[in-house]
Amino acid sequence: MFDHEAYAAHEQVVFREDRALGLQAVIAIHDTALGPAAGGCRLWPYPDAHAAARDALRLSEAMTWKNALAGLALGGGKAVILGDRRDATPAWFRRFGEFVDELGGRYWTAEDVGVGFESVSEIASTCRYVFGLRSGDPSPFTAYGGRLGIEASLAHRRGSADLSGVHVVVQGLGNVGSHLCELLHEAGAELTVTDVVPDAVAKVVASTGARAVAPDGIFDVEADVFAPCALGGVLDDETIARLRVEIVCGLANNQLVASRHADLLAERGVLYAPDYVVNAGGMLAVSAEIFGQTLAAEGTLRERVAAIRPRLAEIFTRADTDGETPAAVADRMARELVGRA
Ligand code: NAD
Repeated sequence: MFDHEAYAAHEQVVFREDRALGLQAVIAIHDTALGPAAGGCRLWPYPDAHAAARDALRLSEAMTWKNALAGLALGGGKAVILGDRRDATPAWFRRFGEFVDELGGRYWTAEDVGVGFESVSEIASTCRYVFGLRSGDPSPFTAYGGRLGIEASLAHRRGSADLSGVHVVVQGLGNVGSHLCELLHEAGAELTVTDVVPDAVAKVVASTGARAVAPDGIFDVEADVFAPCALGGVLDDETIARLRVEIVCGLANNQLVASRHADLLAERGVLYAPDYVVNAGGMLAVSAEIFGQTLAAEGTLRERVAAIRPRLAEIFTRADTDGETPAAVADRMARELVGRA
């Protein structure tokens, strides 16, 4: 573990197995300086345990920076379950809940890719440290943050946040991608979309009139904005060279394969909105549950998410002033907050 390429001085990494159930999980707690570690649980058919650990390590580290920059008194953590969604049973989630509960509140879990609202309810039946249930599904709030992020990027680049007629390319039409498409469509944007699941594409095309392209063709579409909303690791030397957009602003976690890809985007004249700043909407809206706060009305939750827009504007301005990329500025700001704590 200490030599793992994604290990970043994590506080605790927990490997748990239940052989009878065929369940394996990794829980990574990156940092708790600001508060208990909080982040979702992902279910994915990783090729091996090394890849699963890598995902847990990288995602939990990103949660530290996301929660810090969102101004939350929360640290960074994330869990992954190794397996195929089709094999997952309610018993898996209940047992996973026990694994998390045994950590005594050092890590709070919620939904992520492959673990939807129903699975989170199963986890909550055996675990006290679950959030994003009582306030409802966090993904519409995450998507709302995506719309605000795109508006902030447009305002910075073009002096107007108006979405009408703006062409946005959306990769991944799951919980957050499909909601984002609805919001952009309502605001008058033009959409080109893709997903590896044809049904997901058909639904979005029917409700928004979007144009669909094959998954691999998404990087070549000439448009204003590229919004990655599927899995991470989509921006590398090859895909960045293909992009024909002015702005990259989406909701997937860990979009850049390496931090140097932020420099490459800047060299190509693309404004990159740091992923963990843009996709904090779900956390901002529902994490109050962790502190036992009374549930707020939807309008209040949306107000909390609204903080994303000025935060991004500040990052873009500082990046221009300091001659750095927005990603470097966001990293520095987040590290300062955690360092001080
Ligand atoms: P999801 O599983 O509901 O959706 C992901 C979608 O991406 C699926 O429809 C899947 O078929 C599609 N996909 C996978 N590989 C693809 C590819 N190569 N090309 C095109 N489509 C592909 O998950 P989600 O909850 O919508 O999360 C999406 C991303 O947003 C993830 O990176 C997640 O970590 C991040 N995120 C989600 C939330 C949230 O509130 N759900 C919050 C913050 C960040």
